[in-house]
Amino acid sequence: MQNNQKEHLYKILVIGDLGVGKTSIIKRYVHQSYSTNYRATIGVDFALKVLNWDSKTVRLQLWDIAGQERFGNMTRVYYREAMGAFIVFDITRPTTFEAVTKWKEDLDSKLTLSNGKNIAAVLLANKCDQGRDMLLNSSIKMDQFCKDNGFVGWFETSAKDNINIDKAANCLVKYIIASE
Ligand code: GDP
Ligand code: MG
Repeated sequence: MQNNQKEHLYKILVIGDLGVGKTSIIKRYVHQSYSTNYRATIGVDFALKVLNWDSKTVRLQLWDIAGQERFGNMTRVYYREAMGAFIVFDITRPTTFEAVTKWKEDLDSKLTLSNGKNIAAVLLANKCDQGRDMLLNSSIKMDQFCKDNGFVGWFETSAKDNINIDKAANCLVKYIIASE
């Protein structure tokens, strides 16, 4: 997309293991709503979030994998042309954190930007309303984990209590715009 264009449309992937809260995070961010009704969607869901960013309009097209996460990987077609990603884990379930590196590797192996770089990815430690002590990794460890695994940042989030989701999205957008 050219710099002089006032509108930016970014495809943003939301990936991570089943039940970590991907759909809930998107619903909270886009529709300001939250529901405890667990409903595994089938296929791919899209949601559009419009942001006013300086003098620009930024449109985030959020892709929600819905049901295919059980395979732990996605097809190239799904990743195609994405500009950023949230990789989500559930702080109450360590196995979902262990899966984060797999998701990151899957993403990077199937998608690179035209400049040869990996797309910007932000790590979300979701369900932080369940107690911070359940986050097995201290923030120093998490900072190092992000460095080692190529995440541009990480946030503790709660879709339930609306914690840090806007911040995390702003971090991702800022990074994407800066690197364009
Ligand atoms: P997905 O499979 O990754 O899309 O996960 P869902 O968004 O469907 O969420 C799975 C379950 O976790 C649902 O019962 C949600 O209500 C619950 N959940 C999602 N986010 C949070 C959160 O921030 N806090 C708590 N306590 N529960 C959450
Ligand atoms: Mg879902």
